[in-house]
Amino acid sequence: MISIQNVNKWYGDFQVLTNCSTEVQKGEVVVVCGPSGSGKSTLIKCVNALEPFQQGDIVVDGTSIASPKTNLPRLRSRVGMVFQHFELFPHLTITENLTIAQIKVLGRSKDEATQKGLALLDRVGLAAHAHKHPGQLSGGQQQRVAIARALAMDPVVMLFDEPTSALDPEMVNEVLDVMVQLAQEGMTMMCVTHEMGFARKVADRVIFMDRGQIVEDCTKDTFFGDINGRSDRAQQFLAKIL
Ligand code: ADP
Ligand code: MG
Repeated sequence: MISIQNVNKWYGDFQVLTNCSTEVQKGEVVVVCGPSGSGKSTLIKCVNALEPFQQGDIVVDGTSIASPKTNLPRLRSRVGMVFQHFELFPHLTITENLTIAQIKVLGRSKDEATQKGLALLDRVGLAAHAHKHPGQLSGGQQQRVAIARALAMDPVVMLFDEPTSALDPEMVNEVLDVMVQLAQEGMTMMCVTHEMGFARKVADRVIFMDRGQIVEDCTKDTFFGDINGRSDRAQQFLAKIL
């Protein structure tokens, strides 16, 4: 579903991604972890074509991002993205937040978009909040709306960039529960997160990044089961977070 092929990216003189390659199969859940500044957000934004890269290619469901023929807005509409900060539209109601892109980007009717949006809102346990504005919801609730909003576009993959790291601790689980459910339903997911409980529960693979490189790319069982077999940098990182 996602093929990252020898991607190199620079910000000016600074190389932020070095020879990054990996694949994510349909239905697979891949957790990306690593120290702050290691390039996790940049890599995930490249998958959504939110950041350009200078070398290599990323192919999402058969569509090459590097190909000049690719319609990038169309590709982005098929890749769901959930950020650390919820980025809901503050002046719109929850229903409007859930429907605006369906209507404007996918050309759905207001009725169809509303039906879909409300069904997804129900799925994340927030049906009673449809008429509210984002500011009236807690951080955890807003993040669940952000996930529902991304799902409303019928994405072929979902990307998450530290979706729980800005939340108060008591709200982390309600968001992780939604992500676990999605994973168990077979969604293809690439998740930057340091929630190793989530990784242990649903990840198929764990990628560890350091200084712009993919240092480890292995099954969850290998990653957690044989810590001594991991690279020094991964061991140091795990010692801090586990
Ligand atoms: P992570 O998500 O792993 O914390 P990032 O992908 O955000 O790392 O950043 C990787 C590196 O790239 C960091 O050193 C960061 O300072 C740098 N960086 C990120 N965005 C930019 C930018 N727009 N311009 C220049 N440097 C950037
Ligand atoms: Mg980041």
